[in-house]
Amino acid sequence: MRRKRKIELVVASRNKDKAKEIKEILKGLNLKISSLSDYPKAPYILENGKTFQENAIKKAVKIAKFTGKLTLGEDSGLEVDALRGEPGIHSSRFSGKDKNDLKNNFKLLRLLEGLPLAKRKARYVCGVALADGNGLLGVVEGCCRGLIGYRMQGSFGFGYDPLFIIPKYKKSFAQLGPQIKHKISHRFRSLNKARNLLLKYLS
Ligand code: IMP
Repeated sequence: MRRKRKIELVVASRNKDKAKEIKEILKGLNLKISSLSDYPKAPYILENGKTFQENAIKKAVKIAKFTGKLTLGEDSGLEVDALRGEPGIHSSRFSGKDKNDLKNNFKLLRLLEGLPLAKRKARYVCGVALADGNGLLGVVEGCCRGLIGYRMQGSFGFGYDPLFIIPKYKKSFAQLGPQIKHKISHRFRSLNKARNLLLKYLS
């Protein structure tokens, strides 16, 4: 029997690391996955929602309207207990205007200086929304708990991965690499929930 033609899924992000992870996690579905690197004229989306899910919805709906295609909006970040949930939705711009991953990590280490491991609890959260040209199809969320280490370790991944320790392995996501990260991460958990919505859409 001939396989059905692949449907395009646009990942509404310009973050190459994130788009790469989403592609890796969703591989196996009958989808041709593109991202905003393939749509250079797509509008810039202001992330001014109050929650990850609100931002994910905004990205999915606006980009689906622009492309007319099935679209996945993703918004994610790190919530640190000792910082009352900060940086949260501000994770990518934590260190201000000239932000980058290294500066964000150093700021986090500075703010947690002197705290023992028991007080360094954190969680990654990921909101995922799906939309097509007719509007929102659904929204889901996943999270992954860990601890913020005392120093950066490892070279896989991106963002706060060198500091995010998974207690079961006593290693950071940046040390564990994609094979383990993609089985337990916030992104894997939310995409696993979104998978049901996608399968329904594809059928
Ligand atoms: P967004 O593009 O506004 O959703 O930014 C998400 C930000 O949260 C990233 O720039 C990272 O700082 C952080 N973040 C989200 N997910 C991850 C992850 O899987 N690893 C490391 N950092 C992450």
